[in-house]
Amino acid sequence: MKKNNQAVFYTAAITALSIIIFQAYWAYNAYLSARNNLYEKTLQALEKSIDAYQVNAMNTLLPRSLGDSVPYLSVLQVMQSGTGHPVALDPRSVAGHKAPYQLQFTPYNIAPQYVSEARRLIARAAATLSPRPVTLPAIDSLFKQQLARQGITLHFALALLPAGTPAAKGDIATAITSGAASYVVTAHASNTWQYVLRESSAPIGISFILILLTAGSLWFMGSIIRSQEKIARLKTEFVNNITHELRTPIAILKSANEALYQFGESDNPEKTRRYLKISAGILNNLDKNVDRLLDVARYEDGRMPVKLVEVRPADIINSVIESLPPHAAQTLTFHSGLGTATVLTDPHIIETAAFNLIDNARKYSGDGATIQVALLRSATENSWQLVVSDNGPGIDAAHLPLIFDKFFRVPTGDLHEIKGYGIGLSHVKQLIALLQGNITVKSKPGKGTTFTINIPFRHE
Ligand code: ADP
Repeated sequence: MKKNNQAVFYTAAITALSIIIFQAYWAYNAYLSARNNLYEKTLQALEKSIDAYQVNAMNTLLPRSLGDSVPYLSVLQVMQSGTGHPVALDPRSVAGHKAPYQLQFTPYNIAPQYVSEARRLIARAAATLSPRPVTLPAIDSLFKQQLARQGITLHFALALLPAGTPAAKGDIATAITSGAASYVVTAHASNTWQYVLRESSAPIGISFILILLTAGSLWFMGSIIRSQEKIARLKTEFVNNITHELRTPIAILKSANEALYQFGESDNPEKTRRYLKISAGILNNLDKNVDRLLDVARYEDGRMPVKLVEVRPADIINSVIESLPPHAAQTLTFHSGLGTATVLTDPHIIETAAFNLIDNARKYSGDGATIQVALLRSATENSWQLVVSDNGPGIDAAHLPLIFDKFFRVPTGDLHEIKGYGIGLSHVKQLIALLQGNITVKSKPGKGTTFTINIPFRHE
């Protein structure tokens, strides 16, 4: 990666990592607070159910006056005779004293909202004085009602243990007294963490999605940077290639021009014609190459839409083969399995694709090679194929997936002996895709290469 790209990537990576750590921490905290919440609610439910149990158990001992329409509690007080002032609450403090003291019940009204609290307190106090066996199933059913009221669906198992027994980790415990005996009621639930996770699934889920999105964006950004760098590198290679390609024809044109202009060869009509012929051939080639490059740009911009015409593919291939300069040291065969049948297609695309594949086969296979071109009907009869195979040097398996990439050329050290821009195959692939077709390649180093273009038949 380039330095400034590296800086951008690392800054983004640190930011993304911080977000991920923060999100993970936040999700963990959300889980902890949901768990604490559950513990608190369960503890409250347990305490309330024990209170309710004791109020029920001590029902007969609770003052009836609390059930009156104006609830009250009577307090026995020691009063000073004559003044009527209360002197003490406990009659035992004046036991044995003679008048002027007298005992008197004083009623105190209890506000309705404190009646249940008063019952609860009196029941607790009474329970410490009245030894009765604690019935766990009764507490359990009250506890279940309380949990349902709190909206807790987790199942708890209650246990009655002697006071002082330490509750197991994660268990909820509260004390209960009966007479002189004290106990601990514990509530134990298994699978608490699954329950808490389910209950807090919304915040934790959102965090998880944010973590995935952040990590995904980072990965996406990294891959964009890498592909941009690859394109930049390939473009530089392309410019180098094209400069090299132009140098040779320019040098030849320059020497022909100098020979005619400076060294007086123009006086010799025979030589003049020869130089002009050479120049015309070179200019023609340059013109074709420029046209090919412009073609690529035009198709990419969508400025050259697909034009479907009823044509004979065999005619197109024959004219492409004829247009190629003869190569005495190579054999080129063409077989048309389509015969003289016509298909509805874009002839310019077929011509460009065929030219590129046959030209490549000739360029890369070298002297003595055999090149076979064939038109076939696919086994399923719903498409037709153009197959170009050669017995040239083949392509290494490591490079095979890259040859359809723009500007890619199989590396041959610093120097490319065979001229090219590395855009032919990528252009062919794009063009064939416009016809809903595809191109595949099979190659074995040292054995040869076969390109197959498959195009579905089209009907208007
Ligand atoms: P170029 O202009 O370099 O020929 P292409 O896109 O047409 O660009 O081809 C990409 C690369 O694939 C070539 O540089 C060459 O290394 C390899 N290649 C293409 N056709 C053949 C073939 N028939 N035999 C061996 N190598 C080939």
